[in-house]
Amino acid sequence: MSDEGAIAFDALRLATPGVAGLSPYQPGKPTSELERELGLSDTIKLASNENPLGPPPAALAAIREVLPQLALYPDGNGFALKHALGEHLGVAPAKITLGNGSNDILVLLAEAFLLPGLEAVYSQYAFAVYELASRATGATACVAPALPADDDNAPLGHDLAAMAALVSPRTRLVFVANPNNPTGTALVLPALRRFIEALPRHVVVLVDEAYVEYAEDPAQASVLSWLEDFPNLVVARTFSKGFGLAGLRIGYAVSSPQIADVLNRIRQPFNVGHAAQAAAIAALGDLDYLQRSRRMNREGLQQLAATLDELGLWYGADAGNFLLVDMGRPAAEVYTQLLKQGVIVRPLANYGLPEHLRISIGTRAQLERLAQALRQIQRA
Ligand SMILES: *Cc1c(COP(=O)(O)O)cnc(C)c1O
Repeated sequence: MSDEGAIAFDALRLATPGVAGLSPYQPGKPTSELERELGLSDTIKLASNENPLGPPPAALAAIREVLPQLALYPDGNGFALKHALGEHLGVAPAKITLGNGSNDILVLLAEAFLLPGLEAVYSQYAFAVYELASRATGATACVAPALPADDDNAPLGHDLAAMAALVSPRTRLVFVANPNNPTGTALVLPALRRFIEALPRHVVVLVDEAYVEYAEDPAQASVLSWLEDFPNLVVARTFSKGFGLAGLRIGYAVSSPQIADVLNRIRQPFNVGHAAQAAAIAALGDLDYLQRSRRMNREGLQQLAATLDELGLWYGADAGNFLLVDMGRPAAEVYTQLLKQGVIVRPLANYGLPEHLRISIGTRAQLERLAQALRQIQRA
């Protein structure tokens, strides 16, 4: 039989056009991988906006307690965690949808509201998962140009007017990251409110508050209190950043009960495990951890900014637990040189920022090590 006669299996051709057109998400390199590749030990990772404090002690204790129950499925309705969250946030549990990380929430929204021929709107340099989740459905991604790098308030951040201009009769989902990753920018809330007010009611708007716990006053920095006014608003939150539980995969949405009901129809029945539910409840009660987390982040941002000032490097806004840094030359080189010194940061070429790096806030010692490595590289 000739080669042409043989029917080659081609998974990519069988995949739906939306899926085939995607490039996989590029996560930060794990330290174990770097150590394997370069034969190094004692490497540090400042690449995924993880919490340098480690997990909250109360969460670890709660996980140990649930271990004997791991032969059983978790509570698929997340009763206890939704009630704890409801109390913590002052919202009814019926407005909460739990997710396997807030990433799960983003994917559920896209699956629930998008189809080929429909459109999602988000900003240039917005969190990469908005693109992945939208385009996987075959919907059209409408990307609004970001604000310029010399914008006073939000360099490279969301331009709400440009986003509003892309809303059409086919728009079903608008993604807003506040603060945004990787730009570190936060929106002016009254402007965001006017933007949401002006959206037609056939549009669901997601406000992604993954970094809200780092705000001086999280309640003031959040749009949660607007839920009563906007049945089309969804607020996404996570335990991965300020709460230090990225490895457990737990996040949630707060929305109108109507939207929660829609998401619940496609949510995997057991999308959040026992350990994650128990740890999240415990973390909510660990106020001391959150305070330490916020303080360490504030000090770390100052430390990193001082290093970048010393080196004369431009950096972006500081509303998250990371800084966007303009290296003024192909950042891939700097990234590779840092790897050789055992320091992992995040290159952003896949965001269309080939000269920028994103550096997460680490401990004082980790940031000092980064500073020494950067000094050496910039001097060479
Ligand atoms: C980290 C991050 C998330 C999601 O994190 P999960 O670990 O999936 O909860 C969501 N949005 C933004 C903007 C992020 O930076």
